[in-house]
Amino acid sequence: MELSIVVPCYNEESVLPETAGRLSELLQKLVGGGTVRGTSRIYFVDDGSTDATWNLIEALAAQQPRIKGIKLSRNCGHQLALLAGLLTVPGDAVISIDADLQDDLDAIEHMIDAHAKGSEIVYGVRKKRDTDTLLKRFTAEGYYRLLGVLGVEVVFNHADYRLMSRRALNALSTYEEVNVFLRGMIPQLGFRTSTVYYDRQERFAGKSKYTLRKMLALAWNGITSFSPTPLRIITTVGFVIAMLSLALSVWALTVRLLGYYTVPGWASSVVAIYFLGGLQLFSIGLIGEYLAKIYLEVKRRPRFQIETTV
Ligand code: UDP
Ligand code: MG
Repeated sequence: MELSIVVPCYNEESVLPETAGRLSELLQKLVGGGTVRGTSRIYFVDDGSTDATWNLIEALAAQQPRIKGIKLSRNCGHQLALLAGLLTVPGDAVISIDADLQDDLDAIEHMIDAHAKGSEIVYGVRKKRDTDTLLKRFTAEGYYRLLGVLGVEVVFNHADYRLMSRRALNALSTYEEVNVFLRGMIPQLGFRTSTVYYDRQERFAGKSKYTLRKMLALAWNGITSFSPTPLRIITTVGFVIAMLSLALSVWALTVRLLGYYTVPGWASSVVAIYFLGGLQLFSIGLIGEYLAKIYLEVKRRPRFQIETTV
């Protein structure tokens, strides 16, 4: 079996030498043990880094025949960088892993085993989140649960550390969407899958390249690219409120007609106006969000541009 390892890198100059070292050591071992073929390679995808990442990749590729580089023309974000790698590298199976060595490399062998036993997709799932801050753990797990509630099929606590067979990759390449959320797309492929559990480490060096903004964008994409449920919730809430107001007006009218004394309800009307106004704005915004998605999708723009490869 020919294995390719895809590593998206964005400003990772501080970890890259270590990552390259450990990965090539591992690959060497796998080749030596006859687990994978000698033509297996490690592909670093430079996602438009502004530091020395690409220079490092070029240097590594020049020194070591098993290391290759793919340079994207600009920063496309983690998901698209990963996709660019997955869709361009050769190999019978492709493993994707982050550059920061947070994911345990020992899981790779287990993934290959599971693939040999017939799994087309092998998910790396972290056992616990004790290296994350409390806030990150809470929001991330809450988010996975929310996705479940909204009907988006994802693997709980699985990031983008996984093995995919050539067959699964071919299937993935037929998904042409621009708003890419791989964690949602890949479970939709089907095929025989399995899971490998591992412990997540601290980042080896450098800071997280997922800024709050990028993380929120990913989370938002995960919901709005996969689930029409928010739209339905809004519709339901709107309908219920409309019915309640109708009942309320009937009640008010009855009270008035029966001749009871009524206080002119300034507060209640103003509150109602604000409430409904807010709700309507929110609904329009939400509809706009889906519309924007449609707009982006119908343009059929290429999702990434490869500048050079080494
Ligand atoms: N990454 C990328 N493009 C980006 C942001 C991140 O290719 O715009 C890569 C980054 O180099 C790393 C992986 O995505 O290999 C995961 O990022 P990071 O480890 O910073 O995220 P965290 O583990 O903090 O969620
Ligand atoms: Mg990380």
